[in-house]
Amino acid sequence: RAKHEGRGRYAIFDPLMHFQAVQQMHLENDLRKAIENNQLVLYYQPIVNIKNQRIQGLEALVRWQHPERGLLAPGHFINIAENTGLIIPIGRWLLHTACQQLAEWENQFPHHFLKMSVNLSVKQLDIFLLEQLDEVLNNYNLKQNSLVLEITESMLVANIEKTCDLLNQIKAKGIGLSIDDFGTGYSSLSYLHQLPVNSLKIDRSFVSPANLSDRHQVIAKSIIALSKLLKLHVIAEGVETPEQFHWLKKLGCEAAQGYLFSRPVPASDITEL
Ligand code: C2E
Ligand code: MG
Ligand code: MG
Ligand code: MG
Repeated sequence: RAKHEGRGRYAIFDPLMHFQAVQQMHLENDLRKAIENNQLVLYYQPIVNIKNQRIQGLEALVRWQHPERGLLAPGHFINIAENTGLIIPIGRWLLHTACQQLAEWENQFPHHFLKMSVNLSVKQLDIFLLEQLDEVLNNYNLKQNSLVLEITESMLVANIEKTCDLLNQIKAKGIGLSIDDFGTGYSSLSYLHQLPVNSLKIDRSFVSPANLSDRHQVIAKSIIALSKLLKLHVIAEGVETPEQFHWLKKLGCEAAQGYLFSRPVPASDITEL
């Protein structure tokens, strides 16, 4: 920075950058204690079947009830969790909490089949994940195919063969797989049909009301058509208006998720819904 400001000027200490670095360090230290201090919470957002408008599933979305900063969205801490390795214990906690909650709802509403989607981080995609999955399947006695894991396209590029192998083992346990934010990553259509995934989630940028009239529409349409050809389920993310909903219905999209139906809310609110 000092360089750009020209000869004879130097900035060896930038108070703002220092402040941010210190903030980041505090957050990292706080996050280490977040699990044991019960500060992490899962919120749930309904995934609605477009035809009958019933809740077919829920996505678990993590929040951090920070003692000083209030309720933090994952954008504030998932990166830190990934960079520090804390995502491993946090991810395990998330999986357990979501499955425990799902088991509770399965008992409470035995005639309403619900799926529970849990987001995975790339760091969790290894052999230990299989042990964790066995653990939750044994502990909570969930219905077949009710647990779904969401992965993103970028998680698939690194080592496609190894990942594909792992995903097949996950599928063999009766766990569903969904590709999140579809259309924003680097999916190669050539391997999409080899992956053992069950559904695609259309990224909300392609269904956003602001983009409804331009080429984004074409992408959403194409993803819906593609999922039909590949016999995959398709879910639209970020549905905020009735216009979006009707448009998606016309295109034959199966399911939708977004503020139109509900924001992510605590478990007790879902029970009421
Ligand atoms: P995502 O998995 O694509 O989750 C959807 C995000 O879109 C959520 O943000 C949700 O609150 C938001 N959203 C839902 N409906 C609407 C809508 O109608 N309009 C708009 N503008 N937004 C909507 P959130 O909860 O802040 O999560 C952001 C991202 O953080 C998630 O994106 C996911 O990638 C990650 N994340 C969340 N929970 C977890 C978790 O438990 N583990 C991991 N590894 N990542 C997580
Ligand atoms: Mg997701
Ligand atoms: Mg998404
Ligand atoms: Mg995402």
